[in-house]
Amino acid sequence: MSRVVVVGAGLSGLSAGLTLVERAPSLEVVVVDAAARAGGAVGTVHERGFAIERGADGFLTEKPAAIELAARLGLADRVIRTRAARDGAYVVRDGALLPLPRGFSMMAPIELGAFLRSPILSPAGRLRAALEVLAPRRCPDDDESLGSFVRRRFGRELLERLAQPLAAGIYGADPDHLSLRATMPRFLHEERRMGSVTLGLRERARRSGADARGVRYGLFASFDRGMQTLIDAAVERLGGRLRLGVAATALTRHGEGVELEVGGERLAADAVVLALPAPAQARLLGPLEPDLGARLFAIPHGSCATVTLGWDAPALDPRLDGYGFVVPKLEGRPSMAATFASKKWAGRAPEGGELVRVFLPGEPSSDDDAVATARAELRALASVTREPVIARVERHVRAMPVYEVGHEARARHISDAARARLPRVRLAGNGLFGVGIPDAIKAGETAALAALAEVKSGRP
Ligand SMILES: Cc1cc2nc3c(=O)[nH]c(=O)nc-3n(C[C@H](O)[C@H](O)[C@H](O)COP(=O)(O)OP(=O)(O)OC[C@H]3O[C@@H](n4cnc5c(N)ncnc54)[C@H](O)[C@@H]3O)c2cc1C
Repeated sequence: MSRVVVVGAGLSGLSAGLTLVERAPSLEVVVVDAAARAGGAVGTVHERGFAIERGADGFLTEKPAAIELAARLGLADRVIRTRAARDGAYVVRDGALLPLPRGFSMMAPIELGAFLRSPILSPAGRLRAALEVLAPRRCPDDDESLGSFVRRRFGRELLERLAQPLAAGIYGADPDHLSLRATMPRFLHEERRMGSVTLGLRERARRSGADARGVRYGLFASFDRGMQTLIDAAVERLGGRLRLGVAATALTRHGEGVELEVGGERLAADAVVLALPAPAQARLLGPLEPDLGARLFAIPHGSCATVTLGWDAPALDPRLDGYGFVVPKLEGRPSMAATFASKKWAGRAPEGGELVRVFLPGEPSSDDDAVATARAELRALASVTREPVIARVERHVRAMPVYEVGHEARARHISDAARARLPRVRLAGNGLFGVGIPDAIKAGETAALAALAEVKSGRP
């Protein structure tokens, strides 16, 4: 019987493992993870009636991989949507929370009236952004940074006040370092298609008949008991094929296949899927293919910490009913963003209580410091004075791959070189082709199918 080993049981590895089990019932599938729990960057802790997300709190349904995986696992009726709220989110300006204008999508003011009335930008900044419809179409052949794109199309003020904090909330990185093509290709596409991002998105919103306000949040989904629901179902389906608490420490060629050192034991495999962060892939592949290892190592990763605070009674300023806020870097504050988790999702706090998660950049020096910073931020920005009944700090150290300018070409090169030089080894994870949950799931499926095809054909 052929054996395929999946290394990593984050969502990418779980998806790879499940794909193999579904497509090839006679195959021996082994999924290993160094951690004591599956899920990697995704998981929910339940404490005193609160549901606290360790990492991701939801996923976009625009790309179908996550919602399809949920359906395959019988979770269709456990999927929940964000709660409807009057305002989508807030942006900090001069130490105050201002609502994001209705219809604003990452950089584009789709509803012009609402945007022009919003005081988030100065009148000159609003005018400059509104004139995007007249900005010349550039469409360079080379990749461009997200920052450069927003600056040339919408102006510096919109970049600094809106696009920067919104992008940091997703990618944890500076837009001047982020690749436009690898992070937000649809905006480039609209420039090419319509000569204007705003006109392109407006036209799409009109055609789909969608409420433009829904652009950012309406397509976001999670599960009734938090993201852990998805992990638990995947773990249950994999059953005894999943081995936790065992790290893969070496990879060697072995006849047609490969051999892994896992938890001190040797494990031969006809193919492996490395569903790992890029640096962990580099450590395993580097000794075999130093150039490939170096390229994977060169993908930078950002760190952040989340501080989740819970109250058994309302704590936030009652006038706030959005999903949270983002903080422009030029405000000079210690936080990047906050999610009002119990306003965003049902079932995250006990009846009458509230749950809020604050994002801090980098690595805090101690949990106490992180909690104190988060509380001070909520006091200053959202009038929270009440003592929380729970406080939990999660550190995400070098957990967020930064897709720098030129990333797409580099990722393609790595993937092609791995395929050519390391047959029977397939790369998944979030290092190459997308940082969102649907991307990670899709990467796992694609790698699993490629590994399976090789094993079935008996050829590399
Ligand atoms: C704070 C935060 C918030 C986020 N929020 C969202 C969100 O709201 N929506 C969204 O779509 N995305 C979000 N993301 C991104 C998304 O969660 C991740 O991109 C995705 O979960 C990555 O899955 P993965 O399987 O590729 O990697 P991981 O989840 O990192 O899994 C990799 C696994 O590999 C294991 N491993 C590492 N080395 C070894 C080894 N040598 N041997 C065996 N196992 C090993 C690790 O233990 C880990 O379990 C967020 C990320 C972070 C950090």
